[in-house]
Amino acid sequence: MRRGKLVVGNWKMNGGLAFNAALLVALLAGWRPRTDRAMAVCVPFPYLGQARDALTGSPVAWGAQDVSAHAAGAHTGEVAASMVAEFGCRHAIVGHSERRQRHGETDDVVAAKARAALGAGLVPIACVGETLAERDAGDTRSVVLRQLDAVLQAVGAEAGRLVYAYEPVWAIGTGRTATPGQAQEVHAWLRERLAAAGAPDAALLYGGSVKAANAAALFAMPDIDGGLVGGASLEADEFLGIARA
Ligand code: PEP
Repeated sequence: MRRGKLVVGNWKMNGGLAFNAALLVALLAGWRPRTDRAMAVCVPFPYLGQARDALTGSPVAWGAQDVSAHAAGAHTGEVAASMVAEFGCRHAIVGHSERRQRHGETDDVVAAKARAALGAGLVPIACVGETLAERDAGDTRSVVLRQLDAVLQAVGAEAGRLVYAYEPVWAIGTGRTATPGQAQEVHAWLRERLAAAGAPDAALLYGGSVKAANAAALFAMPDIDGGLVGGASLEADEFLGIARA
């Protein structure tokens, strides 16, 4: 049984103590949870404590935007999944395209991060998505399934414990959203693969320039279980509008 809609904000490297406090207050004031819809925010590492303090006991979950593939040791600048878990996080994003493209994360690294997050009791949000060149070359299906398979292989029987997100790279932060039909086509491929891996009901989010104005049409698609939202998650009204869609 699919669990309803989930909307996750990815603040990326944005915010500050005062900005975050105001945003979290506004989200808490405006969010009316239901059993079929949930909200989370993934904040920069230094603000995990602030998110925990503001959101503990509320219907808004919080998480990180990345974790190390390593458990501990000589990895300067890295943050272990167990450290993130100590801050009460529910989620950790792994394999965001900005990490893959700008920080050289391979499918294997992303898979190891997903496993590390799971091992720490977090719910990883594993991202997949093709570049515009890959789409234009007709490679969308093979790229997203290759990325998904790497994660599925690493997590094995625990595939159903993850959240997955399809984020076409050409739609992230560009204002160019996939049409509901384009997104659904890819989600159907991913859903089929998840079903084959024993996780037919795993939450499968869409991400890429989601806004309050386009969220309802995207979320109405049969295989889209909500959104991973970047820019629009920094504006309370816009993010609430998406979460209510
Ligand atoms: C993201 O960063 O995950 C994202 C989807 O960004 P945006 O909504 O700004 O396109």
